[in-house]
Amino acid sequence: MKLIPDADSARFREEARTWLEENVPREPRPSGGEALKEFDQEWQRRQFAGGWAGIDWDVEYGGRGLSLLEQVVWYEELVRAGAPRESVFAVAFGHAGPTLIMRGNEQQKEFYLPRILRGETPWSQGFSEPGSGSDLASLSTRAVVDGDELVVTGSKIWTSYGEYGDYGEVLVRTNPEAQKHKGITWLIMPMHLPGIDIRPIRSIDGFPHNCEVFYDEVRVPLANVVDRVDNGWSVAMSTLSAERGPGFLDHRLSYIRAVDDLIEVARDNGRLRDPAIADRLAQARAATAALRSMAYYQVTSTTKGAQPGPETTAIRTFFVQVQQEVARLALDIVDTAVLEWSHTTREWLADFSATIAGGTIDIQRNVIGERVMGLPR
Ligand SMILES: Cc1cc2nc3c(=O)[nH]c(=O)nc-3n(C[C@H](O)[C@H](O)[C@H](O)COP(=O)(O)OP(=O)(O)OC[C@H]3O[C@@H](n4cnc5c(N)ncnc54)[C@H](O)[C@@H]3O)c2cc1C
Repeated sequence: MKLIPDADSARFREEARTWLEENVPREPRPSGGEALKEFDQEWQRRQFAGGWAGIDWDVEYGGRGLSLLEQVVWYEELVRAGAPRESVFAVAFGHAGPTLIMRGNEQQKEFYLPRILRGETPWSQGFSEPGSGSDLASLSTRAVVDGDELVVTGSKIWTSYGEYGDYGEVLVRTNPEAQKHKGITWLIMPMHLPGIDIRPIRSIDGFPHNCEVFYDEVRVPLANVVDRVDNGWSVAMSTLSAERGPGFLDHRLSYIRAVDDLIEVARDNGRLRDPAIADRLAQARAATAALRSMAYYQVTSTTKGAQPGPETTAIRTFFVQVQQEVARLALDIVDTAVLEWSHTTREWLADFSATIAGGTIDIQRNVIGERVMGLPR
């Protein structure tokens, strides 16, 4: 794949830039409640109507059918245009949609993927349970086959966007007799079914997007199983490879602009004259340039629709550390202004969880040691 832009990708970038200039929402994103969901849905609908949803998703499911490279160009232009970075569609685009693309059957792809692209149905992620986080395969939420349904009972925690998701990607134990990795099923959970109780958890940054979710004999059609009953661990690995791989490239690329903006703030308030701050900014700038190269490496080395390799774990581990250093640096640059609640304060508080969410950094380092470097367990 070429990295030197050809006429087509330069034109694509130009068209994207023009469209974004006219269409990026300029009003602030609401901080919660139905207004937040409506805001994100409206922005997603607008992108779909303009032909900018699912750049690398297949045309038959409503996407543009272009390459991952164009998808990255689109992300870069979103960042450049100052488009909202967060969205209740994060799970849908980051890993639920990609999992369906990799592992779903034709009916599932036809039904669920266009509804994501059209901005109709956000998703949530229900993998972790109290006591089953790092050791995810020990999960105990039970699902029993009853006719053509599964009956689900148990509880999940830290379900991101649980309050907003119309569907959830949920792991359940279908065979308690099998080895722990073998008796798990990956289920599409309609989150408005009777027997589901969703309780938001307000986190340190004030944002209630993680939830506890309780399932009490919830009846889900067997047709909602992705791949097959008891093979969910393998499907979950596809989900996690998307989550740690190209799923959140937009988030990583957004740090290029974040650091550039910080340099301007430091120039304006005089903090750039402090050599220690200037040095940290230079290092942050170099790190975001590296993140951009890693993004391009990923898109040129991942065949479309294939599962990203274990090196994505190394990239994500590097990213979460950059994320936390940039948040800390921002705090040091704005100085006493941090005493007022602001975007900077919120990001700093939120980024504490960067080395936990999606698998802790300790576990990621184990994965790098064992699967990338081939060290003994
Ligand atoms: C902001 C946020 C959003 C999240 N979103 C979701 C979501 O949407 N859906 C979802 O399902 N989950 C979500 N999670 C849960 C997340 O995946 C878990 O918190 C994470 O996997 C860690 O599990 P745990 O909290 O049970 O910690 P534990 O597994 O109990 O770990 C506790 C500590 O022990 C360390 N540790 C554990 N085992 C080992 C080991 N073998 N080697 C070395 N160190 C080890 C860990 O690194 C950690 O420091 C989210 C978490 C956060 C903070």
